[in-house]
Amino acid sequence: MKLLLRCDHALQAAHFANALAAAGIRCEVRNTTLAGAIGDIPWLECAPQLWLLDDLDEYRARELLNDLTRQVAGPPWRCTSCGEQLEPQFGACWKCGAPRPA
Ligand SMILES: [Zn+2]
Repeated sequence: MKLLLRCDHALQAAHFANALAAAGIRCEVRNTTLAGAIGDIPWLECAPQLWLLDDLDEYRARELLNDLTRQVAGPPWRCTSCGEQLEPQFGACWKCGAPRPA
């Protein structure tokens, strides 16, 4: 087993664990209940942790999480269906559901 990373919160840890599991990388989330002890216990010891069951998955797991957290660059785009302005990371309009034009 290998500690892959410490997360900001349990929801982020669960999201990353789901993404890794979907890619066939076995992992485990630990330390999800110590947030209330921050201050009494150092933050690093309280943060939710993502552990790989197989150390050999580390490179692939880091690549996948890098892709997952990479900021999408580019200008906002406007929905051709309803006119809503949307941030570049969205592939469909949040308001009407129309897909982003190619
Ligand atoms: Zn729209």
